[in-house]
Amino acid sequence: MPKVYNWQLGRKMHYPYEERHPRWQFAAVFNINRCIGCQTCTMACKSTWTFSKGQEQMWWNNVETKPYGGYPQFWDVKLLQHLDEAHQREGTEAAWDASQKDGTRRPYGVFQGMTIFEAALKRYGPEGHMRALGYIPSDEEWRSPNIYEDTATGHQGSRGELHPPGTTLPQHKTWFFYLARICNHCTYPGCLAACPRKAIYKRPEDGIVLIDQQRCRGYKKCVEACPYKKAMYRPTTRISEKCVACYPRIEGKDPQLTPDGVPLETRCMTACVGKIRLQGLVRIDERTKEWTEDRSSPLYFLVKVEKVALPLYPQFGTEPNIFYIPPRWVPRPYLRQMFGPGVDQAIERYAAPSRELLAVLQLFRITQKAIFRYEIREGEKIFETEIGGKPWTMYNDTIIGYDRNGKEVVRTAVEEPTYERPKEHLNSI
Ligand code: SF4
Ligand code: SF4
Ligand code: SF4
Repeated sequence: MPKVYNWQLGRKMHYPYEERHPRWQFAAVFNINRCIGCQTCTMACKSTWTFSKGQEQMWWNNVETKPYGGYPQFWDVKLLQHLDEAHQREGTEAAWDASQKDGTRRPYGVFQGMTIFEAALKRYGPEGHMRALGYIPSDEEWRSPNIYEDTATGHQGSRGELHPPGTTLPQHKTWFFYLARICNHCTYPGCLAACPRKAIYKRPEDGIVLIDQQRCRGYKKCVEACPYKKAMYRPTTRISEKCVACYPRIEGKDPQLTPDGVPLETRCMTACVGKIRLQGLVRIDERTKEWTEDRSSPLYFLVKVEKVALPLYPQFGTEPNIFYIPPRWVPRPYLRQMFGPGVDQAIERYAAPSRELLAVLQLFRITQKAIFRYEIREGEKIFETEIGGKPWTMYNDTIIGYDRNGKEVVRTAVEEPTYERPKEHLNSI
């Protein structure tokens, strides 16, 4: 089986196909700290793509309450258990060696355990029936997309009363958080690796992973192999479907919204009420096959420079392209399992953001156009305090975002302007 380089694992890994990369990669950052669980994103996707017969239980975008919720139910717990059993059989551990951290090529160190591809290879061999360790969820598990909504762990104190020890930073004792999820348009997709019909492909122009509806025969191997359970079976057509990354918007095909043909953000991103999402395209370097170093791209800055945004379960090995700013109140062992060893540094940097990070965070959900480049104009000092015993200063910098053509599409300041309505217009628009 060929070996490919996975930068999130900091090493090469087995994958059924040779290493190949698109020219650009669809990617996004979700800031969990801001998600209010309103499900507007979920409905934006559903009303655009999955409102037809046979798609009733198909939620390409979903928002689940962690730690108990999940769609399909227990998707991550189940796969982690399968992987744990695989490691126990081999007498190894799914451990990270964070001491081998090295810039952007190995930002989190080296993963020393087995990915879903390596675990399947060990168990079933290169010609085995499974290319990636996985399972097919039962019908029951797909039935309740928002099960355990708002259910916290470690509840203490009395109903209706504040219980300070439960909700004191740095780690709350009583906690939950919302995890918004779409297909990760993985660099090494489990769904693609497992499809015996070769019906799944990754587009060379933007890295979007699609299922060819003509070729698919509904064997559900993708449903089994996607570790994030984002390939779904439609019983009325007997073929599988998945998030299409709203590709007409990425292609800039809507003449009304984007007459100059520049990429727009997707439906679930642009609808986000909590302003938690920033989506775009990152350029892939033909020579190094990695993200092109681009200090002025907001995605590159958040993921590779500041390292505040982390992949979801990087240990699965698919190199997902949706990154998360972890929730700062959640116990760290849980977050380290979910986002890898970069969690502590990411939260530290998010809790006391650098001047540049604070400006870049203003770009989230501010325009429908995908932002390819930003510039910052320095402003005056507006606030001083201490965070974690260290002095911290806020500046009212202005950030300017540009589309793919280099045209300015947004200009905003750190301090949001406020407008006071005249008295006579109180409660009116
Ligand atoms: S998240 Fe799942 S469905 Fe999406 S590309 Fe990755 S493996 Fe395939
Ligand atoms: S990117 Fe588009 S297709 Fe995918 S989950 Fe979001 S709205 Fe749905
Ligand atoms: S629209 Fe935004 S804030 Fe609301 S649930 Fe979705 S990701 Fe969270």
